[in-house]
Amino acid sequence: MKKVSNITEVIKLLDENGIRSDGRRLDEMRKIKIEVGVLKNADGSAYIEMGNNKIIVGVYGPKEVRPKHLAIPYKSLIRCRYEMMPFSVSDRKSPSPSRREIELSKAIREALEPAIFTEEFPRTMIEIFIEVLEADGGTRTASINAASVALADAGIPLRDLVTAIAIGKIDGKLALDINGIEDQYGDGDMPIAMMPQLGYVTLFQADGIFTSEEIEKAFEMAKKAIWNIYEIQKKALKSKYLQIVKEVDINE
Ligand code: UDP
Repeated sequence: MKKVSNITEVIKLLDENGIRSDGRRLDEMRKIKIEVGVLKNADGSAYIEMGNNKIIVGVYGPKEVRPKHLAIPYKSLIRCRYEMMPFSVSDRKSPSPSRREIELSKAIREALEPAIFTEEFPRTMIEIFIEVLEADGGTRTASINAASVALADAGIPLRDLVTAIAIGKIDGKLALDINGIEDQYGDGDMPIAMMPQLGYVTLFQADGIFTSEEIEKAFEMAKKAIWNIYEIQKKALKSKYLQIVKEVDINE
């Protein structure tokens, strides 16, 4: 008979020098790559890699509302679907929508909607489709970063881009941009989204126990990172148009 061991494997999230399991310092973000206009058939689109997360977003609208009875007379209806591919995590994820995906779709929609001039487009609908190809912690924040760029790519007027990052707690210390293992074995997770230029917070969630000092410090860490990500988002948007200018120049 096979002997079953009940020894729990100890996962070391932080070494004696304060270095995390993926080699980062506590205040270090994962690498980010954003591409804009990656889908020919959507009105706007973006692809993001944030560490090992790989996410693609397609946006449609403003367009006619279907079914019609959902139309709102004084503003555009924002619909958002966050979906994880079955192969996006190590255990095959069921292809049917989970409660978590339904909840995240709502949280992401609520983080993005304040940035959209919805009142300019009554009786229309704007749809945001988020497909997580690979997940490694912080998919909601990475999705928000890509979705706001995809909305801008669709030409939808925005008050500001929405930029997001998650702060976690590992071994009792705050850590910027936690990955999947840190999320699973750490002490907490605090996703934050902001319209950086306007200084508005559009998403603030906390899973775990944080003191008020930790929340204050987490906001400071998040704000700094958010400004960095904001620059990457703007650069990604500009680079699409610089490419078009280049192509036009060549063809002239
Ligand atoms: N995850 C998973 N299987 C699932 C859902 C999530 O392995 O069915 C992992 C995935 O890496 C995800 C992480 O758990 O990024 C943390 O998920 P959470 O619900 O905290 O949302 P996120 O941090 O991705 O916004």
